[in-house]
Amino acid sequence: MNIFKNKKDHKRFMYLHPLILSIMFDMQYWCEERNIPFKITSSVSTEKEDEKLKRVSSSHRTGRAFDMSVLGWDKKRINEFRTVFNNKYNHIAAISGFTGQPTLIVHHNSGHGDHFHVQIHSKYSKEIKLAQQNLPPKE
Ligand SMILES: [Zn+2]
Repeated sequence: MNIFKNKKDHKRFMYLHPLILSIMFDMQYWCEERNIPFKITSSVSTEKEDEKLKRVSSSHRTGRAFDMSVLGWDKKRINEFRTVFNNKYNHIAAISGFTGQPTLIVHHNSGHGDHFHVQIHSKYSKEIKLAQQNLPPKE
């Protein structure tokens, strides 16, 4: 099963921090058990790509966040998912710039489809030199 929406993110996801990767696979398992579609729409990005998307957080380019589509999920599932995983990973979640609280999952629709932004704490930031790592160009 391919859980990635596009090749670029499939090739880059290995640069994510191991903690956010294990959360990703935990979420995949949760969805599979309930027959809910699971699709990663974004993983590691470059600063240029973040600028283009007007991203305010560095979490994608520092390897501690991914986005997953929740298109077609019903409200009950969305709430259940957020409760389960926010509680489970509260201790390593990113601190929200808006609330000052640990926030693993941000639910938003920024014009690129309804999705969850999943993020861990900035202390897990990695310096990822995508340009020097000969990564495949954006599609
Ligand atoms: Zn995101």
